[in-house]
Amino acid sequence: MPSPLQPLSIKHLTDQNIQLSIKRDDLIHPNLSGNKWRKLKDYFKSDSDQPIVSFGGAYSNHLHALAYACHYFKRPAHAIVRADGIDPNNETLKDCQALGMTIECVDRQTYRQKNNPTYLNELQAKHPNACIIAEGGFGASGMKGVAELIGELNCDFSHIICPVGSATSFTGIISQLKSRQQAIGVAALANAEYLAADIQLGLAQLNSSHDNWRLCCDQHLGGFGKITQSLLDFIEDFYQGYQILLDPIYTGKMMLALFNAIRAGQFKDGDHIIAVHTGGLQGWRGFAQRGLVRQDYLAKLGVN
Ligand SMILES: *Cc1c(COP(=O)(O)O)cnc(C)c1O
Repeated sequence: MPSPLQPLSIKHLTDQNIQLSIKRDDLIHPNLSGNKWRKLKDYFKSDSDQPIVSFGGAYSNHLHALAYACHYFKRPAHAIVRADGIDPNNETLKDCQALGMTIECVDRQTYRQKNNPTYLNELQAKHPNACIIAEGGFGASGMKGVAELIGELNCDFSHIICPVGSATSFTGIISQLKSRQQAIGVAALANAEYLAADIQLGLAQLNSSHDNWRLCCDQHLGGFGKITQSLLDFIEDFYQGYQILLDPIYTGKMMLALFNAIRAGQFKDGDHIIAVHTGGLQGWRGFAQRGLVRQDYLAKLGVN
């Protein structure tokens, strides 16, 4: 870090005098890519050996990054995994276990308790010395960690766009904007309107009163982890055009939403848009393993 800021040269944008640059957080580290490391790094700043317990889905980018970080910093790691009907021996969780993370698979109902104070007290009693990190690294230190990326952008920009899961990253980014700058979040999940309240709470926690943001809730293409042929075609074209690989869950949907917005004339002469590539490329393997994308498609993207 800082991760590179890469300008994209796109003719129809140049013609309209609109600049687009990509903040390449996917390049931070091959195994600790993107916003997950920014959200986690605060937990690793002292050289403690305190165990860490956290939560995630069976293909979780967060757990994958956490397993690497814990291995690197020699901290015991334990994961509570939502794994109803999902093979817990998938590539993501195999990596996690190979790095020493222990995995506890729970059903959907138990998993839903992940923020319930009573459940968390019981969990703390089972792991008395552990630091419990919320799903996806949600929370103030996560927001602050991602907020630092704004300080790395030594340029004047008008818009910044990033994908949204828990909105931790998006909230951190908003908190650091100037009032004339706009943040656009693209929700990767369906029915994400509820996140607006979380964003407001988060901003209050960071003592920010910014309202120069917009959450786009209609670009999820059917819901979290759902893919469409037009998304796959877009990701392939984008890779061929710019040699930048997007992931199918977050950054692919964000970039497709951005290109649609540009085409719809939502940006104007003089705008400079920053798109945050939050990483997540390990996520492709889950799609390959479940047969949701073809091997020859992945080969074209250089994923193996
Ligand atoms: C987790 C993740 C996000 C979502 O980040 P939040 O802070 O939870 O909103 C976005 N992009 C990628 C690649 C991710 O892995």
